[in-house]
Amino acid sequence: MASVYDRHVDLNQFMEGVKKRNPGQTEFIQAVQEVAQDIYEFIEDKEEYHEAQILRRIAEPDRVVSFRVCWEDDNHNIRVQRGFRIQNNNAIGPYKGGIRFHPSVNESVLKFLAFEQTFKNSLTGLPMGGGKGGANFNPRGKSDAEVMRFCQSFMTELYRHIGPDTDVPAGDIGVGGREIGYMFGQYKRITNRWEGVLTGKGQEYGGSQMRPEATGYGAVYFLQNMLKHKGEDVEGKTAVISGSGNVATHAAEMITKLGGKVLTLSDSGGFIHDPDGIDQEKIDWIKHLKNVKRGRISEYVDEFKSAEYHEDARPWSVKCDLALPCATQNELNADEAKALVDNGVQGVSEGANMPTTLDGVKVFHDAKIMYGPGKAANAGGVAVSGLEMSQNSERISWNHERLGEMLTDLMEGIHEKCVEYGDDGDGYVDYVKGANIAGFKKVADAMLAFGVV
Ligand code: NDP
Repeated sequence: MASVYDRHVDLNQFMEGVKKRNPGQTEFIQAVQEVAQDIYEFIEDKEEYHEAQILRRIAEPDRVVSFRVCWEDDNHNIRVQRGFRIQNNNAIGPYKGGIRFHPSVNESVLKFLAFEQTFKNSLTGLPMGGGKGGANFNPRGKSDAEVMRFCQSFMTELYRHIGPDTDVPAGDIGVGGREIGYMFGQYKRITNRWEGVLTGKGQEYGGSQMRPEATGYGAVYFLQNMLKHKGEDVEGKTAVISGSGNVATHAAEMITKLGGKVLTLSDSGGFIHDPDGIDQEKIDWIKHLKNVKRGRISEYVDEFKSAEYHEDARPWSVKCDLALPCATQNELNADEAKALVDNGVQGVSEGANMPTTLDGVKVFHDAKIMYGPGKAANAGGVAVSGLEMSQNSERISWNHERLGEMLTDLMEGIHEKCVEYGDDGDGYVDYVKGANIAGFKKVADAMLAFGVV
């Protein structure tokens, strides 16, 4: 008798099912679509993956936890936010992925990020599953005391779902050293345990050297590997970068160290274009502006007269050799990708998660541009988080130099895996396909070993 479950549904039928089960979750559906098209090709003749419904299972989070977060603002108003933790897949290690505080946070955004994280973490070669969390809380404009009260309230629920061998969150948009400190303090207070339950901690209490730099530096190392594969280098090239947070400023720093010239940075208000280049001194000024003064990127032009500020605009129309989207998802669409290609861009490396729309990615692929997707290019952050977990478990700390070498090796390893599965045989590497297949294979094989669980 025929099974009611056809093991061999085609890609369209599979995606119809995903859409039906996740109504209105556009970001999540977009992320699954991007992975599924490559995986379908890869598993076409691999019956074991079909039989065990592996892709279907990876695209269904192990757990979605949603909770109320109440806190009191400085004017004694009671505020109510929604917190989440999405535990997508722990086949190869404890769930691992950042916490995002931003008004745009919802279940769809966090499910897409947790799904992507599963493949990214697998690509690093370290034993980490995929998860993500956050809340629709906007730290912008809040006092330190308000941020502290929010973080404490958030952790008062989150602590029961996480643990050093269960789920180890980190930072993401809106969650930096300050927020991690408040959350770690509350976890320690509630549980009476000092353990490596969060990464991105301060150096004084178990944080790893190189963690703040790792995502941005790693995205540039990935770009460097892509360029090297083509006999090219970063030196002497111009770069357009979006964002001005942790990832963007460190990407800018490494481009500069390697002899490139950074022309732009941005925030949600607009972008600055500095034709003289945003050098280390200017980057340090921006880090202070963002991390200490909590100011806006528009203030840059008051300090550095060579620059122009473009309000409500994104930087992709500026002519450049290299582009690094480092702000947020879907910040680079097909028209903008086309503008970059028309202006002669050679390489794109994503510091952010899914910053390029599916149509935009197609533009890069059709033009045979070197294009490093976030799940490969920005994996340096979670890789050093994995190293922070090892250091916490062993009660040791490695120095900056050693971690720098490890990060360089890890990014080279990720690049090699992408080439292994993504080389089209014609000299062009489809890094999306390479990352998807290499990331999928390890998780899928672990899941096969466990049977139906
Ligand atoms: P930060 O909060 O430090 O910085 C985020 C930057 O992006 C800010 O400049 C912010 O501007 C801008 N931004 C946020 N939302 C938007 C928007 N809707 N439109 C335009 N600009 C926006 O975050 P991170 O640098 O840590 O993260 C940036 C990206 O990198 C995210 O996609 C994140 O998921 C990804 N990532 C981060 C990792 C990490 O280690 N931190 C690891 C891997 C990936 P504004 O201040 O105006 O909001």
